[in-house]
Amino acid sequence: MADRATVRFRDGAEVPSLGQGTWMMGERSSNRATEADALRAGLDLGLTVIDTAEIYADGGSEEVVANAIEGRRDEVFLVSKVAPSNASHAGTRAACEASLSRLGTDRLDLYLLHWRGRHPLAETVAGMNDLMETGRIRRWGVSNFDVDDMEELWRVPGGDQCAANQILYNLDSRGPEFDLLPWLDRHGVVAIAYSPLGQGGELLRHPALGEIAARHNATAAQVALAFSLIRPNVLSIPKAATCRHLDDNAAARDLRLDEQDRAALDRAFPPPTKKRALEMI
Ligand code: NDP
Repeated sequence: MADRATVRFRDGAEVPSLGQGTWMMGERSSNRATEADALRAGLDLGLTVIDTAEIYADGGSEEVVANAIEGRRDEVFLVSKVAPSNASHAGTRAACEASLSRLGTDRLDLYLLHWRGRHPLAETVAGMNDLMETGRIRRWGVSNFDVDDMEELWRVPGGDQCAANQILYNLDSRGPEFDLLPWLDRHGVVAIAYSPLGQGGELLRHPALGEIAARHNATAAQVALAFSLIRPNVLSIPKAATCRHLDDNAAARDLRLDEQDRAALDRAFPPPTKKRALEMI
């Protein structure tokens, strides 16, 4: 088992368990240079997993990432996603080529199906396999898949080679702890927690986070991130567009939540006692 600072994929690749999201980047051309600077600052802090998707800003997020990683490609573990509408056998291949071109690179480290759509899973898996064979992607996975989706994927030929499932997981959305996260652990699938800060909204203003943060001389965001990093098989990808937020987030790696903190979090955000359908944003 990888230690808490890293997560390990089924093929042995090990990456830092805190990375960077990029949703909403690339939307405004006037912000793009600052956003790329922020991603580079994140790389300097060791947040080397960068998550993007073809649909973010209609490819604009991938272009920001291209700018950020230029000359630094080998430092980065690059993740992008195929939109469900493109996820046929040939469509998956074509979408990946378009992403690679926008990203200015010849390979992705991980390519995900963004969520389930109308194309049969077998088609998407066939497209992923082609991309693996040609070296365009190093591994593939899915996103927003609940346990029943994962089980269906496991029945598709080659579906059990899925390396990761990217899901909504934060203190406000703990449903996956009941069944999905244990399922992923058992099957060697890395869980990637998206919106670990609750998108920077209400969650960070919750008094329980404030109290724990005060005990540790930390911030509410760091408590939320430290929570997302408790489980060894979870990779957390907060999005930050300012250096202040990046410094704050990177320091969350050093925050250890003790038993008292965890009990307080369980009181404020009770863990699931029965199945909850996977939420998605
Ligand atoms: P996050 O939970 O990462 O929150 C991002 C927000 O929090 C931004 O407004 C950011 O502000 C703010 N923030 C960042 N750091 C701090 C801090 N230290 N203190 C206070 N506020 C902070 O939400 P996201 O929805 O962006 O999720 C993260 C990533 O997950 C996405 O960017 C995307 O890559 C992925 N994702 C995947 C989905 C999927 O379906 N697969 C769905 C949703 C997200 P600022 O930008 O100003 O720094």
